[in-house]
Amino acid sequence: MAISDLFFGSYTIRNQKRVKNILSKVNSYKDSYADLNESDFKSKTNEFRQRLRNGESTTDILPEALAVCRQATKVALNMFPYDTQIEASIAMIGQVIGKNNAGEDIREHIIAEMKTGEGKTLVQILVAYINALEATKDENPKNWKSVHVMTSNDALAKRDASINKQVYELLGFSCGFAPSQTKSKRINDRLDNLKIKKEAYMCDIVYATTSTIAFDYLNDNTILDPKDRIINRKFGYAIVDEADDLLLDQATNPLILSGKVNGVSEKSNDNKREIYKWATEFLYGKKGVRLEPLDGRVFAQYEQSKHEEFLGYIYFLDTQEVTLNSSVAKEIGYDLTGKNAEEIYNLRYMALLDCIRARHSFLKNEQYEVKVDGDKADIILTDQNTGRRKYSNKYIDGMQEAIEAKEEYLENDAIGAKKRYHINQSFSLSTKAMCTYPDFLSLYDGRVCGMTGTSDIEEFKDIYGFETYEVPSRKKNIRIDSEDEVYATLNQKHKAIINEVLKCRQTLEPVLIGTTSIDESKIISSMLKKYGIRHQLLNAENEEEESKIIESAGLLGAVTVATNMAGRGTDIRLGEGASEVGGLYVIGTSKNKSTRIDRQLRGRSARQGDPGKTKYFSSLEDSLVKLYYPGDTLKGFIEMFKKSDEPIKNKSCLKAVLKAQKHKESSDKEARRTSEQFNKTFTEHKKIIYEIRNDILDAGPKEFIECIKKIIIKYSDYLVENETLDNMEVQLKNICNVRTIYSGNKEMFKEGLANAMYTSFRNNFSVNGIKSKEVIKYYQDIRIKLLNVIDLYWASHFDNLEYLKKKMTIGFGINDVFKEYENEANEIFNKELMPSILNEMITYAANPNMKFGDYEITYYKANDPKEKILV
Ligand code: ADP
Repeated sequence: MAISDLFFGSYTIRNQKRVKNILSKVNSYKDSYADLNESDFKSKTNEFRQRLRNGESTTDILPEALAVCRQATKVALNMFPYDTQIEASIAMIGQVIGKNNAGEDIREHIIAEMKTGEGKTLVQILVAYINALEATKDENPKNWKSVHVMTSNDALAKRDASINKQVYELLGFSCGFAPSQTKSKRINDRLDNLKIKKEAYMCDIVYATTSTIAFDYLNDNTILDPKDRIINRKFGYAIVDEADDLLLDQATNPLILSGKVNGVSEKSNDNKREIYKWATEFLYGKKGVRLEPLDGRVFAQYEQSKHEEFLGYIYFLDTQEVTLNSSVAKEIGYDLTGKNAEEIYNLRYMALLDCIRARHSFLKNEQYEVKVDGDKADIILTDQNTGRRKYSNKYIDGMQEAIEAKEEYLENDAIGAKKRYHINQSFSLSTKAMCTYPDFLSLYDGRVCGMTGTSDIEEFKDIYGFETYEVPSRKKNIRIDSEDEVYATLNQKHKAIINEVLKCRQTLEPVLIGTTSIDESKIISSMLKKYGIRHQLLNAENEEEESKIIESAGLLGAVTVATNMAGRGTDIRLGEGASEVGGLYVIGTSKNKSTRIDRQLRGRSARQGDPGKTKYFSSLEDSLVKLYYPGDTLKGFIEMFKKSDEPIKNKSCLKAVLKAQKHKESSDKEARRTSEQFNKTFTEHKKIIYEIRNDILDAGPKEFIECIKKIIIKYSDYLVENETLDNMEVQLKNICNVRTIYSGNKEMFKEGLANAMYTSFRNNFSVNGIKSKEVIKYYQDIRIKLLNVIDLYWASHFDNLEYLKKKMTIGFGINDVFKEYENEANEIFNKELMPSILNEMITYAANPNMKFGDYEITYYKANDPKEKILV
């Protein structure tokens, strides 16, 4: 609970009165709207939109608009949204808290917490309708904004779009579904997929998964022709289902679009690769000594080195922190001399830390798989929640490189290893664009709101500024949550679980067993088989199938084993007779990494007032518990208790399991806070770069000159601020064809400079009048070149920031890491990146004959080398 809540009550309590007040207004329209017909709905929509155009606010039209949408839902789907659903939608619209630069309202960001089965789907319709009214308020359809409804998987998004479309169309809005990128390699499939997406994104209301939209957005910021843009509406409104999944569980796992960036030499990627190769070999002993972890909290083995000193490190599994022994630190630079020694030393040092993390915390077949194809192989990440393969994800900050180097080494180079395959290094590809989910959501300039079954009120508020509104359940929850049972060993725990399932067989009470890992789900499944218990094991890759299996988990006699997140968003209804035997029994096979996820699994049982019960089983050998206990103490406890198959009663053991969870919870939270803090600066830079990029991309031949002018002015502003008059003169000579310079003070000079650059560009550009074929071709060529310049520098910025971030986290004597990072990152961006980009763009624009990446350019124009531009 936040401290303010002690004084003023939670957000829900503070706002309930206001929300209920609006709810009763919505209810007052119930009767008069009861017989609206098809054409009435559309004219109501037009009326509301007109009222918004005339200056009324959303608050003014809200009760009527919700009442109309409610009735439309009844007509189209034969479901009349309950009061609790209206209440949730009012809460999610939020209150106005200010105005943006364009004079539009800024509203609070709200997450509605609604338990499973309470009907989030209809709430989304209500909110989407209000959003769509606002999004299409502008008289000119070109300025209409997008309304995105984001669900957790493609199949759900598709289903919701096709059903809910009926409501939206009745109300006069179009609705589409944007599918995720096709996995097909056939060009025609890809083109079809793009076409469908483009059309869907032009609809007033769009259903898709968040990752689909985020990747399409990343893609749109790497294209070279505006015709290739996938999302052609401005980002306006977002409704995020399963908000906790995106903003908490997946918050630190960025989406990365990688590919070849024109102009990035293979060399810079190769250098990075060499460093990680070096660090891996150093770690595993090819450089003479094999490093082992020193006696740390987690690892307790070490090796006396040939140097008669400990060559080791301490590694903390929970925080993934590494402390290198001083002799290791020295050894890193054993062969380095000369002027780059320090820089290479730093790079090696940082790479070594990554390689140590890769060794202990990133394990094959747990965090990732190695997919072998002939003599080549790829690293494919595994989603830790669902067990799904994440084909489009890559680790960042050197982790991907460290893992690739490790796998390559262990398979091919380690002593005794057979040469088997080479990893398809992602090194040859550069990161072209990247975003985290929180960062992506900040793009929407209208309303962003979310829904979840289980909120983390404090964290949503602290890190993202989202308030949580807790929507009451319609019926009382009668679920029975039993006390946890803790066993000494994994085996004892698994046996206890099987016994529990066997008990349920007598009444055919349906059981859902939620595991925290794919491995555990397989173990449980094979034990069930041994006992002849028929069950469904859910580790399907196919989301549609997944939903079907989960849906039937409530049938009498059903036994279902699934990783916790599998089938998210699917409601488990009780089958005939299942209520009488106690409803769905949810068994958790280990405590999850947070109590929120524990609650989420429990929430699968006893929906809408149904009966149901839950219980968690743990063991002292669970990986969560291992994170918390010092190795020796834990061993002692296991020895002490493993003799009896009874659940442990010892209080400190029981508490330790909960403490381990707390520990993990807070270190994950810290990781999210850190990621968010580091990301802030990056996001700021990205906004600036993307704005310039999109300006250039969208400028037609006519606007192009103006666009260049803006760039020129930006650049001369920079020069005035940072350069001496002499340097400015040199710049002018270098960029444009100027020999005589009218010097005065800096400001006068700036004007002259801007004019000179501009004139030089315009001369090139308007040779035969704007419409001539050559000019259009020239314009297209130069546009691509300018975009290439931006992309090239931007890709290098990823590396620079990564290096900086690592330097900060090693933190030799740095007080405020984030502040320091922000300052240095901004310094790099403003003093190095931006001027280089601007300078190079202008040089291109002024010197059309220059080849990209070719620095031996001729500065004089061929037609008149003596031309004097500035007098
Ligand atoms: P949630 O996403 O919150 O778990 P759903 O939106 O899947 O819930 O709804 C759960 C079930 O309740 C669905 O079968 C849905 O059709 C039904 N339902 C929701 N709202 C209503 C309503 N107002 N009237 C009748 N049935 C409803």
